[in-house]
Amino acid sequence: MKSITENLNTIKKELNPNVKLIAVSKTQAIESIIEAYNCGQYDFGENKVQELSAKYEQLKNLNIKWHFIGHLQTNKVKYIINFIDTIHSVDSFKLLTEIDRLSKQNNISTNCLLQFHIAKEDSKYGLTLADAENILNSDKFKNLKNISICGVMGMATYTDDISIIRSEFRNLKNIFDKLKANYFSTNNTFCEISMGMSNDYKIAIEEGSTMLRMGTTIFGMRNYNK
Ligand SMILES: *Cc1c(COP(=O)(O)O)cnc(C)c1O
Repeated sequence: MKSITENLNTIKKELNPNVKLIAVSKTQAIESIIEAYNCGQYDFGENKVQELSAKYEQLKNLNIKWHFIGHLQTNKVKYIINFIDTIHSVDSFKLLTEIDRLSKQNNISTNCLLQFHIAKEDSKYGLTLADAENILNSDKFKNLKNISICGVMGMATYTDDISIIRSEFRNLKNIFDKLKANYFSTNNTFCEISMGMSNDYKIAIEEGSTMLRMGTTIFGMRNYNK
């Protein structure tokens, strides 16, 4: 088995500098995060509020940018709002409103990505294009001043069939392009397409990803029984 340092160096050599790598550290030990950090990896992704808060507390002194990538319950936003860099998984107007409300309270602006449902599996969260248009057209949305919509996020179907994965990523890129043209054409912060995980990141890059969320390839297999 290769070390985290070796894995990171291998991946980084493959990546074009305009694609950001988010190291998905869920279930991984603090020491593993520190090892990645020590080779210059500063962006980390977590999908559980409790786990993220605990890791944040232990790693406060490091210059880590934390990304929230899992389903976020509205009533848990308060636990991460004052340190989170980007929330990738905004999947309802209610959640967006709460992020805005707490950001205002903390005198900050929070980076958000709209999560879209692009996979065949129905267990995954996410908006449809119509949902997103309803949000972006609403007067209530225009009153949210403490959020910054930075782009879109999606997860492809977990399958070996490359053509399915590719068409789902292409769909997300099309959604991004439509929203960019119709709502964010003069807004340079709307520029991110968060797609691609360990098993499909190469396809994601070919289809226009700007943010890869990779765990297993960097840290090895996750152990959920610890
Ligand atoms: C776990 C997870 C990843 C990383 O998965 P790997 O297959 O380990 O790269 C990426 N995105 C989300 C939303 C995840 O939950």
